[in-house]
Amino acid sequence: MKKFIPTLIIGSMTVLNSGAVVDKTFNYHVDRFADIEVLRYEVPEFHRLSLEQKKMLYYLSQAAQMGRDILWDQNGKYNLQLRQLLEAVYTSPTTDRNSKEFAAFEKYLKQVWFGNGIHHHYSTDKFRPEFSQGYFEAQVAALPLEKLPLKKGQSAEEMMEVLVPVIFDPSVMAKRVNQDGSQDVIVNSANNLYGEGVTQAEVEEFYAGLKNPADTTPISYGLNAKVVKEDGKIKEEKYHLNGLYGPAIAKIIYWLDMAKSVAENDAQKAYITKLIDYYITGDLRLFDEYSILWAEDTASDIDFVNGFIESYGDPLGMTGSWESYVNFKNIASSSRTNKISSNAQWFEDHSPVDPRFRKEKVKGVSAKVITAAMLAGDAFPATAIGINLPNSNWIRAAHGSKSVTLENITEAYEMASHGNGFNEEFVIDEPTRKRLEKDLYLTDMLHTDLHECLGHASGRLLPGVDPDALKENGSALEEARADLFALYYVADPKLLELGILDDPDSYQAEYYKFMLNGLMTQLNRIEPGNDIEEAHMRNRQLVAKWVLENGKKKGKNGKDVVELVKKNGKTYVQINDYAKMRELFGNLLAEIQRIKSEGDYTAGNNLIQKYAVKVDPKLHAEVLKRFSGLDIPPYRGFINPVYTPEYDAAGEITDIVISYPENYVEQMLRLSRDYSPLTE
Ligand code: ZN
Repeated sequence: MKKFIPTLIIGSMTVLNSGAVVDKTFNYHVDRFADIEVLRYEVPEFHRLSLEQKKMLYYLSQAAQMGRDILWDQNGKYNLQLRQLLEAVYTSPTTDRNSKEFAAFEKYLKQVWFGNGIHHHYSTDKFRPEFSQGYFEAQVAALPLEKLPLKKGQSAEEMMEVLVPVIFDPSVMAKRVNQDGSQDVIVNSANNLYGEGVTQAEVEEFYAGLKNPADTTPISYGLNAKVVKEDGKIKEEKYHLNGLYGPAIAKIIYWLDMAKSVAENDAQKAYITKLIDYYITGDLRLFDEYSILWAEDTASDIDFVNGFIESYGDPLGMTGSWESYVNFKNIASSSRTNKISSNAQWFEDHSPVDPRFRKEKVKGVSAKVITAAMLAGDAFPATAIGINLPNSNWIRAAHGSKSVTLENITEAYEMASHGNGFNEEFVIDEPTRKRLEKDLYLTDMLHTDLHECLGHASGRLLPGVDPDALKENGSALEEARADLFALYYVADPKLLELGILDDPDSYQAEYYKFMLNGLMTQLNRIEPGNDIEEAHMRNRQLVAKWVLENGKKKGKNGKDVVELVKKNGKTYVQINDYAKMRELFGNLLAEIQRIKSEGDYTAGNNLIQKYAVKVDPKLHAEVLKRFSGLDIPPYRGFINPVYTPEYDAAGEITDIVISYPENYVEQMLRLSRDYSPLTE
């Protein structure tokens, strides 16, 4: 599970928590197009790593980039061929570059790169090209034949017959992940996780037949497989060395093996070995064994994720999208998360949920702050700021989980946001702005720590409850549970006692930001007329609207706990009773924990439908209008640094040099050239 950056960070970072010296001249801004800003992030403290550690990080980075094509193909079956064709046009000397059409074409290609395919990374809606079909066809026709990415036996005409509607017809592959439970979510989703003609009912029946409700250590069914229909029968096509995506997996294995040769300790060697064995066989039992060893290794400095991990790309929440994070520990900031994780049992025991749903013994929740060194697959260019893995419920209960906060990424967001005018436009008054400036950076970071390290790890299912019982609402309700846990505890005096906060009111900064985002500003990411679909956004609106409604007249002196007020024709969030708000967060946490623990689909669905999905069109239009005056991009992502080995005369690596030389286009073209095992 992962936590994304909220729409915006609006605190001002007075203290850089990494303890590292931040280069004030570092240029965070890389590119800006459509609704996207591309940034670069710095890797402070890279120089403190030993040569062996730098080598390991380099090998893991290679393993990370080798998986890129896998995600592109998972996201849509024409994505790889289309990327090749678009890049061929983009780089060809025959292409007409001196027109408005070319500018629109370039924008589209940049969007496709950012989405790892033809759909928006967040809304999962298909991009709409602003260049004409005629322009595109003329540029393709001008390409030499050998530049065309033709499939075996395919003619140029046949290729265009397939790809033109994929680009230009809005009704073809309209949405990558359709969560509308009133329709068949498999048939109506354009991802490539399910084959032609497969229906939701068939998938559900197939896995129901495999699952044994009495199994207390179930594998993560469907995590590494495409479900296809062959001669009318449903079956899995597994991702492994000799199966689907084999050529990319072979390269990943090669680099993982190199990393193993310079691993920091035996525990790390052991889990890399398991991961390789799993990639060779596709056996999900081995993946579980790997996950346990990985979760239990808290001693290593260098760490990574590499595999089919998060299931947000699957409307049924089973198949993992390929991703990789490579990182090392931020030692100074990790003392904050250590304090939280070593008190995990205290937080669990005092949580406001029914004691039947609490974990009697919280298993080793380890938490650390990390410095990201390479982002890949589903973590690139858009990335999370916090991750908590493994996802398997029984492994989390029996062996614990590892929770990380990506602080150099958060820092980059923060540094790139200074002076963007957001607070002046949306925050109700000067005292609240002051509060945000003083306390938001740290409380926001703490919210991430609490969400990842304690929130997702808390609570338990009653015996016999299917972990997938909440179906298409599972992700949004799980995120709500983790956010509510974090919101409840960010206001707890325990944090002062632990020496993490020194002002008992600092949590108010996080509460204000959360409510503002959930009730108003996140709507900047939604197109007029659309509903909210993405799980984290549904979660935020669910929580904020529920508190708005259930806090009516419940605050001090019979006031509303929180209300939307008008000033000079503009809408603002006004919080009248912060203490009562905390109580309401606790009440909703108790109810959502009950829903999860009992697998109460109906109650969960009622909450989602009532609070999380629908948008007030008037308020939405107002938010969009106020944002349009600010030029703040709704989405941001990152390009990676470049790691270059230096060799001695004997061919031995003597150093790995980090640099930040590329712009967005250069990096994307280099990745397609050097890391494309599925299109060679
Ligand atoms: Zn989460």
